[in-house]
Amino acid sequence: MSQSPPPLSTWARHISPSPTLAVDAKAKALQSAGEDVCSFAAGEPDFDTPEHIKEACIAALRAGKTKYAPTPGIEPLRQAIAERYGVEYGLKVTPAQVIVSPGGKFNCYLGVLATCSPGDEVIIPAPYWVSYPEMVKLAGATPKFVLADDRTGFRLTPAMVESAVTPRTKLLILNSPSNPTGAVYSRAELTAIAAVAVKHNLYILSDEMYEHLIYDGAAPTCVATLSPEAEARTIIVAGFSKTYAMTGWRIGTTVAPLPIAKAIVDLQSQMTSNVTTFAQFGALAALTEKEKTRAALVTMLAAFDRRRKYLHAELNRIPGVSCLLAQGAFYLFPNISSFGLKDADFCSRLLDAEKVAAVPGSAFGAEGYLRVSYATSDEIIRKGVERLARFCATLKK
Ligand SMILES: *Cc1c(COP(=O)(O)O)cnc(C)c1O
Repeated sequence: MSQSPPPLSTWARHISPSPTLAVDAKAKALQSAGEDVCSFAAGEPDFDTPEHIKEACIAALRAGKTKYAPTPGIEPLRQAIAERYGVEYGLKVTPAQVIVSPGGKFNCYLGVLATCSPGDEVIIPAPYWVSYPEMVKLAGATPKFVLADDRTGFRLTPAMVESAVTPRTKLLILNSPSNPTGAVYSRAELTAIAAVAVKHNLYILSDEMYEHLIYDGAAPTCVATLSPEAEARTIIVAGFSKTYAMTGWRIGTTVAPLPIAKAIVDLQSQMTSNVTTFAQFGALAALTEKEKTRAALVTMLAAFDRRRKYLHAELNRIPGVSCLLAQGAFYLFPNISSFGLKDADFCSRLLDAEKVAAVPGSAFGAEGYLRVSYATSDEIIRKGVERLARFCATLKK
């Protein structure tokens, strides 16, 4: 009698797969089976990486940049990242504080691992990006969710943060502009929230992945600039994926106070080593060939902004749907609770009936909403929202 193998690890048995990637995969599978799918499920820009960035990567590959690089990144890239924080935010950053990691997702995970031990609690504002809770659990810590729904513009107040703090709280995660809601906190709001973190001696992980995808003349806030006390405890995560349409390159960045940065480099040195060496030269071009990069970004932002306004207006024309006009990222988060269906049921029926894919709000810890991505063509958006309206009309009694 052969014995069956032992159970897999606690981590393997308790990790949930990414629901956003799952919906996207299902939409793509239907599409390749020949179905005419309109997907609002995308979590990445629909644009290609700007040409000058690709060329710099190809040139580096041809020049033999194919060996290991220093774990935290090639020196000129760390230098350029440090400099950009000075130029964009007036923040003094040295290259030693910068870590280049294989995607912003991994930067976030390393930030959690560097600060949280088993038994610690982490405050996660909901609706949240799907990976935060799983990262916290993989570190052995416990997520504490605080829900800010559309009544507060999906933004936490300092009092809401305060109410979630316990003696075990170690870390506060912030994400402005937000995935999934697109909400952008004002500088004043973040200042008040950071003060709560300082008061209770918490670390802050500020996920600023969408800092450049911001509309209506709003300005992004770098949380480390809010006060010297905030700077001393904040891990800033940002990257190339969303701003420069480089999701497949897998390059993200961390800026942290030196002791945290050192811990993160040590963790990365044992887990993945450096980001693909020649890819880092592409990222370097994104920061150094400023005029070309700016031109590409302006073009992408204009398209996102046009789609954002169109989609917002069309969603609000559907009886039973109400949607705030988000100021950042490339998502809207309409409220569909008036239909009296679980959002997951709403989404699966929508996909079956009209071949429209959207991610249910419950995947982000907020039942009763949809995450609708406008990182797709104007044509898909127009067709998709028309089908959504037709679907909603069948639900109305
Ligand atoms: C996309 C995303 C990331 C990470 O992106 P990478 O593709 O890993 O660089 C991190 N945080 C949020 C909120 C995101 O939406």
